[in-house]
Amino acid sequence: MKVVLALALSAEALNVARNPNFAKLQGGYLFPEIGRRRSAFVAANPDKADKIISLGIGDTTKPIPEHILSGLVEGASKLGTQEGYSGYGAEQGMGDLRQRIAESCYANTNIKADEVFVSDGAKCDIARLQIMFGSGVTSAVQDPSYPVYVDTSVMFGQTGEVDANGQFNNLVYMKCPKENNFFPHLDEVPRADVYYFCSPNNPTGAVATKAQLEELVARALKDGSILVFDAAYAPFIKTPGVPTSIFEIPGAEKCAIEVNSFSKYAGFTGARLGWTVVPDALEYSDGSKVRDDFNRVMTTCFNGASNVIQSGGMACLSPEGKKEIDSLIDYYLGNAKILQGLADDLGLDYIGGDDSPYVFVDLKGHSSWDTFSTILEECQVVTIPGAGFGPGGEGFLRFSAFAPREACEEARRRISQIDIFKGQ
Ligand SMILES: *Cc1c(COP(=O)(O)O)cnc(C)c1O
Repeated sequence: MKVVLALALSAEALNVARNPNFAKLQGGYLFPEIGRRRSAFVAANPDKADKIISLGIGDTTKPIPEHILSGLVEGASKLGTQEGYSGYGAEQGMGDLRQRIAESCYANTNIKADEVFVSDGAKCDIARLQIMFGSGVTSAVQDPSYPVYVDTSVMFGQTGEVDANGQFNNLVYMKCPKENNFFPHLDEVPRADVYYFCSPNNPTGAVATKAQLEELVARALKDGSILVFDAAYAPFIKTPGVPTSIFEIPGAEKCAIEVNSFSKYAGFTGARLGWTVVPDALEYSDGSKVRDDFNRVMTTCFNGASNVIQSGGMACLSPEGKKEIDSLIDYYLGNAKILQGLADDLGLDYIGGDDSPYVFVDLKGHSSWDTFSTILEECQVVTIPGAGFGPGGEGFLRFSAFAPREACEEARRRISQIDIFKGQ
């Protein structure tokens, strides 16, 4: 027995091969990398640790408002009573919540409750969509983009190795250039099976117009491809006439899936609640329904969102909850105005911040990681380098409005003093 134990302890590694797709992933996930650099700065400058302001990762900071909180508390309290107790729920979510999501968020569309799948968040749903798509599809992502679409495509083995530009073979990059308001020139984009598109966009803050979304849907329909539309920031849209769901575009129900989340406007980044809409009309080439396969994924790989948190979701979509959400969004958009002002102070162009919580600043040719480091070292403000979202983000810096008001004001005071952009 002792001998066996000693042998096991002396073994240097498992006798299990690493999934080769994981070896292809680049540089760790972006946000941990930002955290590492911040920790390294603090280790080298312990006296400045208290001064650090984060306009980085994009995590909400305001507490959950009263009425929404009462929904969470009610959900928790019910579990302590015999009458209120419930165990496993429907894997697709509570019927009432699915209904309320369909009515509140899809009023201008034909989306119905049974096309709404409630979940523990949009990021997790993107990964579950990938389980459904499998390794045989070709995916297309915006460049720059939220890293999850790329990294899950790599994990599921859809891509080849990374090239010298940091781009994966067999992944389509839809370059989103500044001069086109960060919308891709679709006529230059090769066909993919699945197009990932996020609006209001993380990281650029750009919001696609109705005409642009029509172009996107027309392209997906022409290609017979699936458009995965990430609407995690939809309620930040204040400009009249800008669609808040892809399903406001006619024909989208034949090509689109929409992922969504309570995270960024109800303070649910830690509570975890989102949903995905898979229209009944979406069919694969063999005539089978995409919705049925997604239902299979949700029943096999997920056991339904927490009943406590779903009770909070009901409160979010009540009239009082919606008011609370509006004021949270107003607060963060007020911060975004300050960050736009900061870009103005520096004489730099920016996009975003009107209908989105991100302000994406053009660094006039300066490298984004270098500028990230300068701002961290000289101003003790954490930002996110655009290059972390793909090669198309090089030369840009993302400021997040998810921070206390005073932190945004203080960051503006500090950063507007730096002189790297002077005389340009
Ligand atoms: C934050 C974010 C998400 C993640 O949402 P969760 O519901 O918290 O998982 C999804 N998509 C985008 C674009 C995001 O910025």
